Amino acid sequence: MPSLSVNAQRLWSAHMRMAEIGPTPEGGSNRPALSVEDAAARALLRQWCAELGLAEERDALANSFYRRPGTDPAAPAIAFGSHLDTVPTGGRFDGVFGVLAGLEVLRTVHEAGLATRAPLELVNWTNEEGTRFRPAMMGSRVHAGDLPLAQALATADDQGTTVAQALAATGLAGPTPPGPRDWSAFLELHIEQGPILESTGQDIGIVTGTVQARYFQITVTGAPSHAGPMSMDRRRDSLAAAAEVILASERVGIAGEPGGRSSTTWITNSPNARGAVANITRLHSDVRHESPERAAAMQAEFLAAIEEIAARRQVRIDVDPYTTFGPVRFDPGLAATLRAAAAARQMTTRDMHAVAGHDAVMVAAVCPAAMLFVPSIGGISHNPAEYSSPEHLARGAQVLLDAVLALAGPGR
Ligand SMILES: [Zn+2]
Repeated sequence: MPSLSVNAQRLWSAHMRMAEIGPTPEGGSNRPALSVEDAAARALLRQWCAELGLAEERDALANSFYRRPGTDPAAPAIAFGSHLDTVPTGGRFDGVFGVLAGLEVLRTVHEAGLATRAPLELVNWTNEEGTRFRPAMMGSRVHAGDLPLAQALATADDQGTTVAQALAATGLAGPTPPGPRDWSAFLELHIEQGPILESTGQDIGIVTGTVQARYFQITVTGAPSHAGPMSMDRRRDSLAAAAEVILASERVGIAGEPGGRSSTTWITNSPNARGAVANITRLHSDVRHESPERAAAMQAEFLAAIEEIAARRQVRIDVDPYTTFGPVRFDPGLAATLRAAAAARQMTTRDMHAVAGHDAVMVAAVCPAAMLFVPSIGGISHNPAEYSSPEHLARGAQVLLDAVLALAGPGR
């Protein structure tokens, strides 16, 4: 197999061009899943792939696939990709990098006129972030059979728009039934979203597995009252109770360190009116740990704290532990391929765990999967200041290219 080099400048330009879609004033990206911005980002990817002669195939949940044929019709494809959707305070690299690095692989191979034995397939997964529609990693989850398609389609956002309606409005639903494809490997390249690689000065993280994460939708129900006349001892303030729940969630993560994490990341409050004591407050929280036993213990600790808060404050607190993922161990053979590819380019690597959810975590259930990370400056992510340098991106894409070509084999 000839040695090919990715084009660092072209890869960087693709990121900057993609960031023009759904720009935020602070220089980040806001492309909620199945929004107008998401559809525009997908259209740009479709156009770029069309320039390489690659047609798009979409499944019923709008997961998108671009396949470059191999010379062996019987060979399963080498797949790679990530997601183009972002959180509202998203940066320019989370998810986007995995898709655009995959595009750069295809562009480099196309430019060289190189034939591979196995087909290559680029993937853009729908709604990885789970900000607009719960749960996160929705597209890859349905692909892997972790969530029924009908349930995903019926999921509504905070405005009451369902996934099915958003798919219809954007025209993004495709004819292919979601499900496992003829792949022998799925590789996801991602920014680390943490500080380790930057602080150790290493080039590439080989992600060997993930933590276990448990997600909770929490509803605190109190009683509405006038913020003036109602005496302090008789009010049942859902917002004040929720404040205690938020702090309890943070305490659980602090107690779970090292390795433990917990957050409350979302809140709505009703009636959310000046002068009225709140009576319904909703929260979204999670706990994470490398050890599933420790994650379960963190959950138990959190639920016990919630029970105590509810009893003392005379409010009702319903907890829906609606989803979980991990721990996942990625394919050791693929991890070894990635490690070898990095070493052959004189790059330094470190084995690490992913603490965030990623599409590869879901895909790993139905296809050998692995991930690699590049450094994130300051470990900042889900923030407009998210940054990885053109050199970081190019090194990661180079390792992805080399690994993909090694796995696909030479064409004939
Ligand atoms: Zn991501």
